[in-house]
Amino acid sequence: MDKRDYYEILGLSRNAGEDELKKAYRKLALQYHPDRNPGDKQAEEKFKELSEAYSVLSDPEKRSKYDQFGHAAFGETGPFAGFDFSQGFEDIFGDIFGEFFGGSSRGRARSRAQRGDDLRYNLEITFEQGAFGTEKKIKIPRHGPCDECEGSGAEKGTSPQTCPACKGSGQMAFQQGFFTVSRTCSQCGGQGRVIPHPCTMCGGAGLTRKFHTINVKIPAGVDTGSRLKLRGEGENGARGGPPGDLYVVIIVQDHAIFAREGTDVICEMPISFVNATLGAEIEVPTLEGKVKMKIPPGTQSHAVFRLKGKGIKDVHGGRRGDEHVRVLVETPTRLNARQKKLLKDFAEEGGEEAHPIAKGFFEKVKELFD
Ligand SMILES: [Zn+2]
Ligand SMILES: [Zn+2]
Repeated sequence: MDKRDYYEILGLSRNAGEDELKKAYRKLALQYHPDRNPGDKQAEEKFKELSEAYSVLSDPEKRSKYDQFGHAAFGETGPFAGFDFSQGFEDIFGDIFGEFFGGSSRGRARSRAQRGDDLRYNLEITFEQGAFGTEKKIKIPRHGPCDECEGSGAEKGTSPQTCPACKGSGQMAFQQGFFTVSRTCSQCGGQGRVIPHPCTMCGGAGLTRKFHTINVKIPAGVDTGSRLKLRGEGENGARGGPPGDLYVVIIVQDHAIFAREGTDVICEMPISFVNATLGAEIEVPTLEGKVKMKIPPGTQSHAVFRLKGKGIKDVHGGRRGDEHVRVLVETPTRLNARQKKLLKDFAEEGGEEAHPIAKGFFEKVKELFD
């Protein structure tokens, strides 16, 4: 059978760059990976073909030989006859699958330095804390070496032993067609060692969870859903790897009288119909205490007044928002006899000219029905 062109196998042009090559291989290898296509001979063949093509093209030296001589470069009689493709195969797996194949390459990843996981912490704060910023102490659980066994995972007085199945390599080799493929040792999970007497504190993991208190500075203007990234405050790395990051996700509690729209504060404030009618100077609550606000005579219910700059600071450094005071004219209830009498007298004065909105409405009703 004639061998297919390596570039054709990967669907690439001859001048494809390293990134393109990696991307193409990753995509196809995922598609044809034996773990995803159990028992599928065709997929297995494709996968082998792909791996061979990648192992040559990803090596600049081999690639240039291939570009020059084609398959003959590595054939029975070519200058590189007898080249063992299983060499370097492991590396490809480690690099490419390590990051997204949880299963098969996990053991290998575990024996290398590994960045710690990112952690997420949901932090609830008050409305005012969101508006003005605050500082909070939070407790973050992180894994660290177990105190009892000093991280070895073995009970005091005992020690881990070399895995008898893989002799400490963490890998088991098996034949797949003409390749020798290494797989993670199932007995030790790729660690290369087993623990006959696991530590009772950590169950043999060598790690325990410890709470770590950190101070979080919350800037003014954060809102529900704001995310603060604390670099390096996530889970500890493994085997010398760097720690992950901590993401603090803000949840702002509801307020008794204020609501928020972006950087603006909304306050719905009841006023009496007398004040609404005659106009008044009223006291209005703001985030920084009460201020006086004039409402003009003839103010209608739901009219909105703006208090400039009384809103919330922009977390990104923009303009501070405003407070919007929406007045709600309250219809009085539970009137005493004298109050009722005064209102009846008021009504008897005749009200058409004093109520232009109602007047306009009833004129329209008249046009429609009379
Ligand atoms: Zn322990
Ligand atoms: Zn083993």
